Amino acid sequence: MTLLDKFKPLEEARDKLRALGTYPFGVTIEKILSPTEAVIHGRKVILAGTNNYLGLTFHPECIAAAIQALKEQGCGTTGSRMANGNYADHLALEREFAEFYRKPFCVVFSTGYQANLALLSTLAGAGDVILLDADCHASIYDGCRLSQAEVIRFRHNDVEDLKKRLRRLGERAARTLIVVEGIYSMLGDMAPLKEIAALKQEYGAYLMVDEAHSLGVLGEYGRGLVEATGVEDQADFIVGTFSKSLGGIGGFCVSAHRELDVLRYAARPYIFTASSSPAAIAATRVALRLLRDGTELRARLWQHARRFRQGLENLGLKLGPILSPVVAILLGESREQALFIWHQLLSRGVYVNLVMPPATPDARCLLRCSLSAAHSDQQIDRCLEVFAEVFSAYGSA
Ligand code: PMP
Repeated sequence: MTLLDKFKPLEEARDKLRALGTYPFGVTIEKILSPTEAVIHGRKVILAGTNNYLGLTFHPECIAAAIQALKEQGCGTTGSRMANGNYADHLALEREFAEFYRKPFCVVFSTGYQANLALLSTLAGAGDVILLDADCHASIYDGCRLSQAEVIRFRHNDVEDLKKRLRRLGERAARTLIVVEGIYSMLGDMAPLKEIAALKQEYGAYLMVDEAHSLGVLGEYGRGLVEATGVEDQADFIVGTFSKSLGGIGGFCVSAHRELDVLRYAARPYIFTASSSPAAIAATRVALRLLRDGTELRARLWQHARRFRQGLENLGLKLGPILSPVVAILLGESREQALFIWHQLLSRGVYVNLVMPPATPDARCLLRCSLSAAHSDQQIDRCLEVFAEVFSAYGSA
């Protein structure tokens, strides 16, 4: 047994899937044409599996701001904010996020993944408890691993299960951080946040909400599920990413707790990594304004979500539980069959995400589709035509 032998099963699994046709993980986007179109395998395809909810990746104002920052401030910062200094724009973006959320404190991170690592590893230490929804994202699980806290999962979206666990914790509830997401990335469903916020109040715990997929998507002003459910004051820490509705790269956390600002001096994923490039920050500053003023973009996104879901329901497909811009098509347990269906869609010009266990909530595979405000009605209809062709020919896996 050598150091590298452990990779054998992974390599075999990869090669087995590869032998069946195009490998679905890490597809090469040969050319990106717009927020909704790309060239893959020499063919123009509709992108129906991005997280580009508001379609801002090609927004001329974001691009112009990025180019200007690139010219004036260079390609990169070459170091961390703690060791090498803050660029003024990083601080400006923090102020803008804080204003947007009407919270006094904000910290910007280099990615949303790092925001979760930083928050969880620093907020919850030895003797503390993290109570997380079982369907939370890998970055939340990884943050838990970095923390010294006791980690307890509650059943996905199950308020009763959460309550039972909080009750069992007794006085330790005051040392507990509850972690949930706004929109869950795989099934597109949402946390019952009003009830969860009420429980955290009742038991004196703290609440962190990852709005990665709901920022810009939910709420009149796009502040996510906390806004849509009216619990902004009860959410102690709101985390998010720039990599979805903001069309860039980076992460943030806002809070009314001044300790968030102190966390900068303790959070290793903040201290020991380079800060975001000036271009990324400049584009995000513009994108945040567009997101806040993006009522029409949100309306279009939801209109597309309704049209797409209705079309898929008409085909009799098994879908995720609720109307959402993230649409899961639930398949069976056969990876080969799921890959075949995914490949058929791609070869007819529709790119979606293929998700296999353990990334899925259960043993089944799923196709994850996501809508963008930048899609046209024609693109949605074309996707539905392709789904109809593929599923009528090959069944539902
Ligand atoms: N949280 C959730 C819920 C996510 O889905 C993701 C990205 N898929 C992240 C955090 C990480 O965000 P980023 O891409 O900015 O690292």
